Amino acid sequence: MKRNLLWKAAFLVGYALALAVFWLAAARGAEPDGERLTRTETEFGRRVPEYRSEYVRVAGPNAAEIGRRCDAIVRALEERYGTPEYWRVFPVRYAPNRGGAVAGYTEYAEPNVTEVAIFQTLDESVGATLDHELTHAFFFYYLHKNFDLMLNEGLAQHSEYASRARLRELVCARYRAGEFAPLAALYGLNRYDRAGLIYTEGFGVVDFLIARGGSKWFAAFMLDLTRETGDIDLSLWRFYGYASLGELEEDWLEFVRGGQDCANTRAVAVRKE
Ligand SMILES: [Zn+2]
Repeated sequence: MKRNLLWKAAFLVGYALALAVFWLAAARGAEPDGERLTRTETEFGRRVPEYRSEYVRVAGPNAAEIGRRCDAIVRALEERYGTPEYWRVFPVRYAPNRGGAVAGYTEYAEPNVTEVAIFQTLDESVGATLDHELTHAFFFYYLHKNFDLMLNEGLAQHSEYASRARLRELVCARYRAGEFAPLAALYGLNRYDRAGLIYTEGFGVVDFLIARGGSKWFAAFMLDLTRETGDIDLSLWRFYGYASLGELEEDWLEFVRGGQDCANTRAVAVRKE
């Protein structure tokens, strides 16, 4: 009888030990934040690495490196603008030098981002195209929809921290060359103009508004514009004290003439009603 009990005890201790060893091994193998690096079958029957996180899915030879970069960029955007209430994982696809004149794109099918494609190498795209496209994806989720193309491209370019100085020079040069179109002609246009002013002026205006109120203030302004008022003049009044797009334009051009001195721009952070 006693012998039998001893055997039972030994078995239970052995079982507990095996469980502990298994649990420890599983814990050591797991990566932080639920990130997993797995291998998946391709259509050719070869296995390629795949990376999946709470934000993106990447497949290909350096999937983990690309995926971790994407995660870091999205987390920085969350720090900067706030966390979107809604997010669905989307694939990020790298195809260096396959895009012709296109550096990358973001594709949507409401309510989700369906793909981000980058036609550069990872090194070329960090601080530039990758940040740009992920900002499009981020704001699509943040605002629950697509929005005015000029502001959208302005915001996306503002994330290209490696290009900001060059973009400011371009704003200045094109303004001095008399190439600018009135903001009223670009806002709401929602298609790309041949001269690319949607990009240049979009960046210039967003850069100016973020200099005045900061990134979170700008994000609150965008939420007000897209979800509350639907009226650019009204949202500009509430968040920046401008009675209209034209009044913003005058002040912004003054800022351009003054050398786009972001550090010494009049701050605003009081909402008017
Ligand atoms: Zn863009």
